Amino acid sequence: MAELTIPDSAPPADATDGVWLACIECDEPYPPFDAVRYRCEECDGLLEVRYADHPTFEAFDGHGVWRYAAALPLDDGVRLAEGGTPLYSAPRLADDLGVADLHVKHEGLNGTGSFKDRGMTVGVAVASHLGVERLACASTGNTSAALAAYGARAGMETLVLLPAGKVAAGKVAQAALHGARILEVDGNFDDCLDVVAALADAGEAYLLNSINPFRLEGQKTIAFEILEEHRERTGTYPDRIVLPVGNAGNTAALYKAFRELVAAGALDPAAVPTLTGVQAAGSAPFVAAVEDGSETVDRWDEVETIATAIRIGSPANARKALPGIRETGGTAIAVSDDAITDAQRELAESGIGVEPASAASLAGLRKLRERGVVDGDESVVCLTTGHLLKDPAAAAAAGTDPEPVPADVDGVLAHLGG
Ligand SMILES: *Cc1c(COP(=O)(O)O)cnc(C)c1O
Ligand SMILES: [Zn+2]
Repeated sequence: MAELTIPDSAPPADATDGVWLACIECDEPYPPFDAVRYRCEECDGLLEVRYADHPTFEAFDGHGVWRYAAALPLDDGVRLAEGGTPLYSAPRLADDLGVADLHVKHEGLNGTGSFKDRGMTVGVAVASHLGVERLACASTGNTSAALAAYGARAGMETLVLLPAGKVAAGKVAQAALHGARILEVDGNFDDCLDVVAALADAGEAYLLNSINPFRLEGQKTIAFEILEEHRERTGTYPDRIVLPVGNAGNTAALYKAFRELVAAGALDPAAVPTLTGVQAAGSAPFVAAVEDGSETVDRWDEVETIATAIRIGSPANARKALPGIRETGGTAIAVSDDAITDAQRELAESGIGVEPASAASLAGLRKLRERGVVDGDESVVCLTTGHLLKDPAAAAAAGTDPEPVPADVDGVLAHLGG
């Protein structure tokens, strides 16, 4: 495994409580909360949150995302009930795949049904701190549902831009009921992000897509929870974490959590889990970049997959996530829509109900195991990112068909017997 890069730029004089922003490309520092800023003013690079000190596990206390406040830029957030999701053991699936041990971290059990809540509890709190009036995001669905709920909680106006006809029904319903203004764009997710980023640059709204560095801080807590719970359950950390990749925000966030724990001396670099990304074959620019050993991702203009949550042609956080794959000795793989549906069914047969994008993690693990990239003695965690009910149409299509019967016992018995 390669060394983990630990950035060590000194805090600028105007850091707040040992917290500042820095450009991942040129290390230029910025005060964290003085102005709305999404990119480096010098080189347009992505920004990340940096800290003068990193906590060890002993500093964590309580439940959910805010258990990890010592590793976050604020002491508290706009709260619903984010984080604290279950880590299910999946022994039958582990046997079937031929791995030593398999757990499923089910992020679909966050309040709005996806991990996006973890980022929003931090991001919307920063927005309210900055005193902005209107929140906005482009979304394949779940970001809009989470932003609408957290925006409502904070009493703020919310604008969401969705690719018309390409968002699962459950997600649009959530954004609608939580009171977001929903703009249906005649284009794909990447077009929506281009438009909303321009609106944000014009000062029309505060951007809460995952290029917002504060969101990824909240999402780091997925890694903390997996490590703590896996250690409690099995006595060790997992060898590998497999996750779906859309904008690669989660991949970047997990990698950042590992680097910070290593910097704190709380995690042995040799114990850092291997980060393994999975995309749908019809939408796999990140996989192409990993296969080419490239530092950047080439945008795919045409993308298509049943896994609409990861139907993304230009992963916004690729520059943050690619080093995470490389330095942890990981890889990335593309899987077919049929393999995704099979994996969604397999998870459901273990009682774990997920949306298609989430099932990509298991489909990717199966393919890598078949190819011998994943060893039989590995202890693996699959991250499932969203709930089954997010996409009722996909679930119904993948599941059993209703059987019409008459409204009498004899008729039902005859049907069951026949
Ligand atoms: C947002 C989302 C993803 C993609 O996560 P990234 O951090 O953008 O890679 C995957 N699955 C679901 C269900 C999502 O909502
Ligand atoms: Zn820069």
